[in-house]
Amino acid sequence: MTKSVSVVENILGANDRIAEANRQLLDSTKTYAVNFMASPGAGKTSVILRTIDALKDRYRIGGIDGDIATTIDADRMAATGIPAVQINTGGTCHLDAVMVSGALPKLNLDELDMLIIENVGNLICPASFRIGSHLDVLIASVPEGDDKPYKYPKMYRGVSAVLLNKIDMLPYFDFDMDYFRKGVEALNPGLAFFPVSARTGEGFDEYLQWLMEQVDSYLGS
Ligand code: MG
Ligand code: ZN
Repeated sequence: MTKSVSVVENILGANDRIAEANRQLLDSTKTYAVNFMASPGAGKTSVILRTIDALKDRYRIGGIDGDIATTIDADRMAATGIPAVQINTGGTCHLDAVMVSGALPKLNLDELDMLIIENVGNLICPASFRIGSHLDVLIASVPEGDDKPYKYPKMYRGVSAVLLNKIDMLPYFDFDMDYFRKGVEALNPGLAFFPVSARTGEGFDEYLQWLMEQVDSYLGS
């Protein structure tokens, strides 16, 4: 029992050291990295594509896309005109620091202000594996239900912001916004929270304003 716990701790410790090296590389090239996490179907790629579209004239953006097997999402990122690198995790359900350290040299970080990382769609373990990002964002969505903070507390504790996507679908689902927010607030008090719709664009102005403040403050520091 004790032994298996220490093995897990060692794996996470090794991961954290590499995550720290990733962060140093990003900082030495002044590149602000945002890690987007979500369950499958939350609309992660749609949110990311809309974010890139809105910010690509303001910042030099690059992308890393983690996927279990396909390159579809990296291709969609690249179609926006930004340099994008695919990490094929070979079945692993999260990105880890080693995978990201292998992808970083494939981007010219000196010529980027911002790096957008799309993690593998999964609410269980991506939050346990730090990758060196400056900002970790969780994308939840209305159809997933208002009980998700209560079911996946670790994920909600480990992020700097929550986007609640697909708010255009609120009329069709029995989603209690107060219950959801109460769950988020209990786990992560004061967390930045933005209800959005990647389909209609609703809520994006507020979210993008906040995101630009984070990036500007980093780049200006
Ligand atoms: Mg840079
Ligand atoms: Zn995993």
